Amino acid sequence: MSNLRFARQRMVREQVIARGVKDKRVIAAMLKVPRHEFVDEALVVQAYGDSSLPIGFGQTISKPYIVAKMTEALEIEPGMKVLEIGTGSGYQAAVLAELGAEVFSVERIKPLYIKTLNRLNKLRYFNIKLKLADGTLGWEEYAPYDRILVTAGGPEIPYALLKQLKDPGILIIPVGPIPRKQRLIKIMRRDGRFFKKDLGPAQFVSLVGRFGWEVETGKEAN
Ligand code: SAH
Repeated sequence: MSNLRFARQRMVREQVIARGVKDKRVIAAMLKVPRHEFVDEALVVQAYGDSSLPIGFGQTISKPYIVAKMTEALEIEPGMKVLEIGTGSGYQAAVLAELGAEVFSVERIKPLYIKTLNRLNKLRYFNIKLKLADGTLGWEEYAPYDRILVTAGGPEIPYALLKQLKDPGILIIPVGPIPRKQRLIKIMRRDGRFFKKDLGPAQFVSLVGRFGWEVETGKEAN
């Protein structure tokens, strides 16, 4: 539907470009992925708004600007292997796939995993592999990864993710001592060393698992 395409163009203009995202390939990917296909039918009209949206099971799809900002900070090149922890709706994974990445994404909630598996198949995103597991342990089988992105906030950086990151490589993760209140941290691995950069405040749902929070907290959608 063309009004959805206009809504998407407006989203990119007002929420992505106007706020400083410059990478032309990221902008093109955001223009291409049909975000409204990643939310329930009742939320389609809100899909291009400036907010995160509920995707069921107490989880949310991040707002467009956050997706664009994280994707730009990842500096993706075509052909890179990218690990995402927290598949959710699959929207972020689809944006990464549009950039030519080979995406590996892990989700811990089974019905969400199944729903997204069907959605990504229907939308023909065949360069995204999904796994149902605790992503704080990474995905050993395909490691190491050029890039790792965590889209849920934990108390610390899971050690397995640092181990599964290539050198050179980039890892982005929201980290904070209180659920729902994090700093978005960018880790750059280079010449055997890790460099850290703070990308600013973030509010993600909780990373729950062996090296995340023990239980789900702050479930409300925002
Ligand atoms: N990237 C998603 C946003 C997901 S919200 C999107 O584009 O829609 C965060 C997701 O992380 C939720 O689906 C939640 O279930 C998942 N999650 C939380 N802890 C996890 C863990 N340890 N392993 C895998 N997924 C996890």
